[in-house]
Amino acid sequence: MEKLQNVRGTYDLYGAAKRKAKKVIETASKVAEKYGFEEIETPVFEFTEVFSRNLGDTTDIVTKEMYCFEDRGGESLTLRPEGTAGIVRSFISEGMQQNLPVKLYYAGPMFRYERPQKGRQRQFTQFGVEMLGVATPQADIEVIAMAYEFLENLGLAGAVTVEINSLGDAESRKAYREKLVDYLKQHYDELSEDSKNRLEKNPLRVLDSKEDCDKKIVENAPLYADSLNENSAAFFQEVLKGLDLLGIKYRVNNRLVRGLDYYAHTVFELTTDKLGAQGTVLGGGRYDGLIAQMGGGDVPGIGWACGVERLSMLLEKDVDLPRPIAVVPVGDDAADAALKIAYDLRKAGFRVEHGYSGNLKKRMIKANKAGAYKAVIIGSDELSAGKVTVKDLDSGSQKSVNLDNLIKEI
Ligand code: ATP
Ligand code: MG
Repeated sequence: MEKLQNVRGTYDLYGAAKRKAKKVIETASKVAEKYGFEEIETPVFEFTEVFSRNLGDTTDIVTKEMYCFEDRGGESLTLRPEGTAGIVRSFISEGMQQNLPVKLYYAGPMFRYERPQKGRQRQFTQFGVEMLGVATPQADIEVIAMAYEFLENLGLAGAVTVEINSLGDAESRKAYREKLVDYLKQHYDELSEDSKNRLEKNPLRVLDSKEDCDKKIVENAPLYADSLNENSAAFFQEVLKGLDLLGIKYRVNNRLVRGLDYYAHTVFELTTDKLGAQGTVLGGGRYDGLIAQMGGGDVPGIGWACGVERLSMLLEKDVDLPRPIAVVPVGDDAADAALKIAYDLRKAGFRVEHGYSGNLKKRMIKANKAGAYKAVIIGSDELSAGKVTVKDLDSGSQKSVNLDNLIKEI
């Protein structure tokens, strides 16, 4: 039979890689809960238009990366490529507008048909947060602070840079758009086919192009900063002031735009130079127009999402699990006692490895391999006197212990 294989761009996550990914999610969840966020789990698939109408119809995700399929009932469904659109859909369909602000976090798989390479998968995991209903810069500051504290707790604060920019409000973006179109038209022939196309429909998307020919032109494009109206510029200054107050270091990057259409005002990324081309580990921004656009009323929003696998790759040290106690019966007569002792120790909260088979020597090798710090050795003679031997596997010392006192002794 032909050997079964996983689909290109997907990975089996187990062992050390899984432990790291779990630590990333647990660390992020703890920080989010300290900031008053609650976990939400939305479906892995949604009606296609939840994404196609709201992420931007000239974005890479919508034009070429979505996993769309028709289900047996003829509905067009899409495996979620990102978290925000589904959460806003849920915010609206569950009527969460009644109780603002709404602060949510999530973790789960996302799907994008991209060219697989290091740090770029077709199924990957994101952890993200969304704060809905706060229009003031305090939200931007806290949400960025939260991202920073999360990476600090992972020991990665030194490995990443906070990059930040402002896209301004709708008026500023309109003013900028005009300047940009004028500029891009002067370089029309040098643009990629995709970007020529975007120039008509959504010129801002050209700024986010990954094509070298576009990047060269974008280098000298007009800057957002010069098109911000007074309100937008003041908003951005408030955000930066807040970050200064909290001692969070950042770099204003006038070229930062982000890959989705719904962003306004603050956009930010946490980047590293340790992962080659896939250097963005976390990205986010304010999306004040999105909720209204999806039919949920005039509610502002801001959030971020991180790539759990990319962050895991930055964790150098393996994540240690608590060391177990090994239960080692000597001879068949001790098997039942071993089963019961393992059961009782586990109930008392210990991590216990049961060797399952083999003679004393084999079982002791297994115990060491499992990293056990103690072994409870159960011989049948000793057992009839109500005793077992507890051996400290680090020092080698051992003593006979009354079975009734075992848990206390350990
Ligand atoms: P990139 O510029 O690397 O394509 P993006 O802007 O498309 O990233 P976002 O949509 O902002 O990424 O997603 C947030 C985070 O999710 C990214 O910063 C990254 O860490 C992670 N991520 C995005 N796409 C992938 C992928 N295909 N495989 C693994 N992680 C990903
Ligand atoms: Mg991308």
